Amino acid sequence: GFILTKLNTTKSKAAFKEAQKYMPGGVNSPVRAFKNVGGDPLFIDHGKDEYIYDIDGNKYIDYVLSWGPLILGHADDHVVVELTKAAAKGTSYGAPTIQETELAKIVNKIMPSIEMIRMVSSGTEATMSAIRLARGYTHRKKIVKFIGNYHGHSDSLLVDAGSGLATFGINTSPGVPDDLAYDTLTVAYNDVAGVKKLFAEHGDEIACAIVEPVAGNMGVIPGTQEFLQTLREVTSDHGALLIFDEVMSGFRAAYHGVQSLVDITPDLTTLGKVIGGGLPVGAFGGRHEIMEKITPAGDIYHAGTLSGNPLAMTGGISTLEQLSPADYLEMDKRVAALTDGIKKAADKYGIPMTVHHVGTMWSYFYNSNPINNFDDVKACDQELFKKCFWELLAHGVYVAPSQFETNFISTKHTDEDIEKTIAAFDAAFNAATK
Ligand code: PMP
Repeated sequence: GFILTKLNTTKSKAAFKEAQKYMPGGVNSPVRAFKNVGGDPLFIDHGKDEYIYDIDGNKYIDYVLSWGPLILGHADDHVVVELTKAAAKGTSYGAPTIQETELAKIVNKIMPSIEMIRMVSSGTEATMSAIRLARGYTHRKKIVKFIGNYHGHSDSLLVDAGSGLATFGINTSPGVPDDLAYDTLTVAYNDVAGVKKLFAEHGDEIACAIVEPVAGNMGVIPGTQEFLQTLREVTSDHGALLIFDEVMSGFRAAYHGVQSLVDITPDLTTLGKVIGGGLPVGAFGGRHEIMEKITPAGDIYHAGTLSGNPLAMTGGISTLEQLSPADYLEMDKRVAALTDGIKKAADKYGIPMTVHHVGTMWSYFYNSNPINNFDDVKACDQELFKKCFWELLAHGVYVAPSQFETNFISTKHTDEDIEKTIAAFDAAFNAATK
């Protein structure tokens, strides 16, 4: 395995050993374990703005940002004040609060296609519930998803999924009944002809197509305009719903989501991550006419003890109320400078590299070929990824520990951080090619 020679991580190592006695793999979510990069994970003590600090006292510029939610960085002053006030008032009632409507209105203003919304506590719940709604609304069983897209870990969606499944090289999970997997039809991402063929053959049985309109769970891969437009057309033509899973891309790829970038209105949208500002929030929403089929307005069942939790709503409100489209222009500029810098550094050392960024999401792929789908990512140099990953950590840069994950940026990252990060990549490439 790889060892961090330049950092003292004694306490993290001991903590991981202890954690493995009580939790499978020592973690509560698989990619955190750093298994894919062949080493022990860092245990985090705290974060402030763009930095995280591990329990050994090492400081890193953080580009994982809790896998997306922390667009204002760690422990943003206003968010902390609002959360503290909210916690002092009470953490949960299981009764309506004004904050739920407030967040619903904010989301509707930013993404007008979400006329009505239902709050949940994770992205997994959001997509699982949206799929049930689509099936209940259309009275159909089959769903379409794209290879390498990840929509959380509910049974129907755990087929040919990206993120952790891709990281560990598996295409579904023991425990997912074959019958359910059978109703999930998969196609390659960005495969326009494949989509048309699938709908020509099965169109009348398909309840919905769910897609990450900018994929983020095999690194960042934008859906092409033609691909997303085709999806909009074939779903409409066959009476199926189109679900944009913007759990990651919402308030990330663009302030108004990918739907604004491509000017396509999905029937339903799923949200997560930034919508909770670091607290557990997910949501699904869309047209009145569809959403009103949900209980208690309609009869398609959905519920949750902590859905719309007041602390979680406050996390979302206090985050989104501080953001405007101008912030995204700033962050986009910085990410462009960062990915350009990484690409130039790779060129300098003769390392094959393709970089992608959409808004505040970015990826670097160890392959110089075009990256448009899951197979393209699988062809990347994983060994080089691992080597450079540890070098980056040693240089104080914390990036996603897998080629199949996205990196992010926050409003707190500065031009100086970008320069330091490019220098860290340069040093990592230098060490890795020696
Ligand atoms: N959809 C997408 C696009 C995601 O990126 C994720 C999580 N990375 C999910 C759904 C699942 O969200 P959660 O981890 O909150 O369950």
